[in-house]
Amino acid sequence: MGKIIAVSNQKGGVGKTTTAINLAAGLGYLGNKVLLVDFDPQGNATQGVGATTKDSKLSVYNLIMEDYHPHDLIQHLSTPPLDIIPANISLSGADLQMVKFEAGKEQLLKNKLDTVKEEYDYIIIDCPPSLGLLNTNALTAADSVMIPVQCEYYALEGVTQLLLTIRLVQQLFNKELMIEGVVLTMYDARTKLSVEVQQEVRKHFKDRVYRSYIPRNIKLSEAPSRGMSIFEYDVRCEGAKAYAGLANEVVKTNEKRG
Ligand code: ADP
Ligand code: MG
Repeated sequence: MGKIIAVSNQKGGVGKTTTAINLAAGLGYLGNKVLLVDFDPQGNATQGVGATTKDSKLSVYNLIMEDYHPHDLIQHLSTPPLDIIPANISLSGADLQMVKFEAGKEQLLKNKLDTVKEEYDYIIIDCPPSLGLLNTNALTAADSVMIPVQCEYYALEGVTQLLLTIRLVQQLFNKELMIEGVVLTMYDARTKLSVEVQQEVRKHFKDRVYRSYIPRNIKLSEAPSRGMSIFEYDVRCEGAKAYAGLANEVVKTNEKRG
């Protein structure tokens, strides 16, 4: 049975999409069957792995709002070795349209992903930078949340809001939702700030913070424009080593948790 992990933080630009893409790719290269779900109207994860929603291809919007099965729109990639459900700007309309639904509007994504859960080892959801209904759908569908925290001032402030949202989703829609782990992103060992944020986050989340932290690495920001994960773009760079380490830790933790 696959494990569904939502990569979430309502703050934009903290490394959600970079983490979703490269964690998914890293898990794929370790031999896991992986589905990456782009659930952000910006479609950055879709473009970042070289998938497309052009030529009237269906996207995650059609999946949740219409009568489609995931098999109708999953794209199979070989580099990186994963399947993807793409997103584009049409998803931005879903938020408003869903509000009008009487019941079940929080379960739209869950209902669809549950039908393919057994086909995968991991399903990784790239969440939008907000705490609206889209994010609630992702957290309701997920078994756990991975929280990327950017090493900068006020890093923990946004996370407090996210933790409240997670608790609310646990109470209302998804009792079993867990915190998968916290990953430090854009770490710069030369700055005192990065070191301080790392200490603060570790003090707060203790062993739920991954030992692997993601350094600030220019290659990580270049790879998406080529439609490549970091492992195709430059497998030797520090960013690739860090995400390979993260993927390994995720597999190990899940073996331990059983
Ligand atoms: P989010 O999905 O949370 O908005 P992104 O993953 O899109 O964040 O990252 C925001 C920007 O920072 C992007 O331009 C991305 O390429 C860049 N970026 C992300 N992680 C790193 C990193 N470790 N080193 C350098 N640039 C990064
Ligand atoms: Mg993003």
